[in-house]
This record gives sequence, structure tokens and C-alpha cells, in this order.
Amino acid sequence: MTDHPTEPITTDSEAEAVHWTTPPTDGGERLDGRSAALVSADRLLTGRRGQVEGSLETIGIRTSSPSEAEVAQARTAGQGGAVLLRGRDILAVGTTAELEGRLTELLPDVDPNDVVRVDLPGTTLMPGLIETHDHLPTSGTDVEYPDYGPHEVARLTLNAARAARELLSEGVTSVQSLGARHYVDVALRDAVDAGDLRGPRIIASGPQITTTGGHAHHAGGAADSLDEIRHQVRHHHLMGADTIKAMATGGFMTDGSAPWFAQFTSEELRVLFDEAHRLGRWTAAHAHGTQGIERAVRAGVDYIAHASFVSAAGRSEFDPHLADEMARAGVYVDCTIVADLPGIIAADPTFAPPARQLWEHGVRIVAGHDAGIPASPQRAYVGGLQALESVGLPRTEVLLAATSRAAAAIGRAGVSGVLAPGFEADLIAVAGDPSQDLAALHDLRLVVARGREFRPDRVEGLAASQAPTEAVGPSATLAEWRERSTRAARHPEV
Ligand SMILES: [Zn+2]
Repeated sequence: MTDHPTEPITTDSEAEAVHWTTPPTDGGERLDGRSAALVSADRLLTGRRGQVEGSLETIGIRTSSPSEAEVAQARTAGQGGAVLLRGRDILAVGTTAELEGRLTELLPDVDPNDVVRVDLPGTTLMPGLIETHDHLPTSGTDVEYPDYGPHEVARLTLNAARAARELLSEGVTSVQSLGARHYVDVALRDAVDAGDLRGPRIIASGPQITTTGGHAHHAGGAADSLDEIRHQVRHHHLMGADTIKAMATGGFMTDGSAPWFAQFTSEELRVLFDEAHRLGRWTAAHAHGTQGIERAVRAGVDYIAHASFVSAAGRSEFDPHLADEMARAGVYVDCTIVADLPGIIAADPTFAPPARQLWEHGVRIVAGHDAGIPASPQRAYVGGLQALESVGLPRTEVLLAATSRAAAAIGRAGVSGVLAPGFEADLIAVAGDPSQDLAALHDLRLVVARGREFRPDRVEGLAASQAPTEAVGPSATLAEWRERSTRAARHPEV
């Protein structure tokens, strides 16, 4: 933050080496979530598409503007981008001059001199980032199901609280939890909503609904008949889950569960999602193989995690017809493009989630990273966005995937992900212009969650190029299955 006296964050030479350094929390929030505030920067990205194809709607000074002196002059003339907040809501966006001129109209009961002003030269304002796929309680551990013995609930809750703060410290202002034992995500959501803890807006799922012995069965959401499925959905509803998540296929992280095979029948998934929708819940499916993806889409799911199209041969085998069907259904998809994926693909190109192909078929790709599982730390969020660009999504699409489209993907359309009147004040400012270079997202200058500033904890973000490349789950599972088929091929016809 530019006004912090003792810890200058970026001199030009340091910016090369340090991707993410934030000042220590000092409690000095400028925006308290109650007052009116005018936040101004060089420009503002609204989170909508721009007029020109492939562009983002931008208010204020374009980065293509020639010199620093001209930028400074334009700012003085009020041509920068700005957002006017009151409490947790966005009242208006526009140029600084426009909003200054409309203060008495927009805030008839407030003396314009009492409006808090935060001016951030050299920065871009944009919607807060959104993580659409997270496992808050296991965050920071190196096994998917750590054993805490009698302290399990407490430790998982503490992990989740720490993860929530870490997300907010890197500019993530909403997160969809897609699997949490003991509904600790529900309790954490309520604590954040009540203001007891700082964290992003949490969309909670509780435990994933799976089959006995199926993927992530340790989390406790097994169901094996239509009645048990209805009971699980209703129980999740009773416990306060926002999103009902089903394990439509096996997964890489659970011994003995194969990612390429469906776990539930079509009828079971239909009952599951219908019952969730009847209760006004959002729905998500974990699905790797085509059979599980297809069943989930046809059963009416809202969100699919992974969509890796992995086959029993242990390779990604893209199915263009299914992609078209996913696009027509309007389902949101995270291909789980984590920060270390480019390294994994370089080592083994046969397992590469087809994010680019799905996008070309019109599928709505969003930024979900399975954060909190081993090898996908919360602090690698921006590295994940860089990885999504490196596997072929245009930068504009990546930014939509991380903001407005992500908000719709977690069932919060019209609430967050866009800087426009009527949306909640979830926003960040970053040095530079992320529409020119996503690395700008590593240089965070302001975080506002539901109208209240958050002074980030010291967190060093992980760029795609720095991420560790030891693949924990997929490589082991794939190697085992490949070994088995190689041995089978050796066997004579008998
Ligand atoms: Zn997951």
C-alpha cells in the first residue's frame, strides 16, 4: 500500500524478484464498510466485456496513453477511473471528475467533504478475485485427509480460518468451498458474515456427496440409493450448505477410486440435483471422465469441476460433441488449471485438461484451482490465472473467468464480480494494468470486501513459473493404471 511509511513495496528492481509482498496488518483501514467513499485510480475495469471484441470495459486512462507526464495530467483533470461506495454497496462508477460532480445527487444526505477519499495513482481498480473451487479446511496440509484425532473439528476450522485470511490477502473476495468435513465452511461463512473474522464471502458446500468408498468418502457424505441421496441433500440443506456438490466420478486423490468411471447413475444424479434445486441450492459436480461429465450435464448440474476428459487409458481424450452439449447447457467449468500445471504438462503432455478446446466450443471456463489440496496452495491463485493464460485462454477471458463469470459460476450473479451500481463493494486495486499483464495482480494495493478495507497479511504469491512441479495425485494414479494396462498388453491371447 502506497501510504505505508516503513515498508516501501516496489522499487523497480525489487518488482522483478518479489512477486507478492504486502505490508503487515496495522489495523489502519481507510474504508470501514459504513461510510461513503470515493476510490480513484488511473483506470477501472468493470468486469464486463468491452465494445471491441476481446476487450474489457475500461473507464479512465488507457495504458496505451503515451507518457507518465500525460497520465499525471489526465489524472489531475479527473480523467482517471473511480468507484463511489456507501457501506457495502457500489453507488456509481465513472471518471473521478464525473463522480465528484455527482456527489450531492448520489449522496444527498452527506456533506461532500465527509466522503472518504482514497486515491491510488498508478493502479487499476477491478472487481475482487473469485476462487470457485476451494477446500478450506485441509488448506496448508500435505495430505488430503490429515488425522487430527480428537481435535479434528477444531483444527480443520482453524485451517479454514487461516485459509480464508490468506485468500483475502491475495485479493480473493469470494470463494466457493467445494468440500469441507463437518460443515466447517458453513460455520466459517457465518462467522465472516457476522464480522467475527475477516475473510472472503464464502459459498459453502459441506461434505461432498459420494458413494460408499467413493471419491472423498472420508469427508462423510456417502449415499447409495435414491432415498439416501435425497436424505443427504436435505441434510446438507438443513446444515446450511449453499452449494450441493456431488462426486460424479472417482478422483485422483482417493485410493481405489478411478477418475475415468462414473460413480452415480444418471437417475441418481438427476434426483440429487433436482432435489438441491427444489431447495434453492446451487449445484456442482466433480467429474473427470466423459461418462461422469455427460451424466452430470444431462442431470442439470450448474458447475463442473475438472472436466479433464481423462479416459481409462490414463490420457485426456477430448470429446467435441460433449463440449458442445456443455456449452448449450450453459454449465460453468473449472479445468483446475493450477499454477504448477504448465510444468506437469511439460513433463507429461498426455494429461492436459482441455481448457482451451472447451473455451473454443463456447464452454464457460472459470478460475477454480481445487485450492487447499496438496500442491494447490491458496497463495498460488494468481499463478493459476497465469497458468490459465499459458494453456491458451486469452487474458481477457482469464480476467472474466476470475471475476464476473466466476461470480455467476458460484451462484452470485448480480451480487459480486462486477463494478457497477447495485453490486456489493468487492474490489481490489493493483499496480499497473492486469489487462496488459496478469503479473500486475501480484502487486496488490487495496483490498475491499463488502465495503470494508482489508489490510493484507504478508503473503508471497506464487507465480506459475515458480510453482513446485511434483504432481501428488494424478501422476501416481495415472502411473499405476498405465502400468496395469502395459502388463495386460504383454499377456498372450488365451
Ligand atoms: Zn476439489
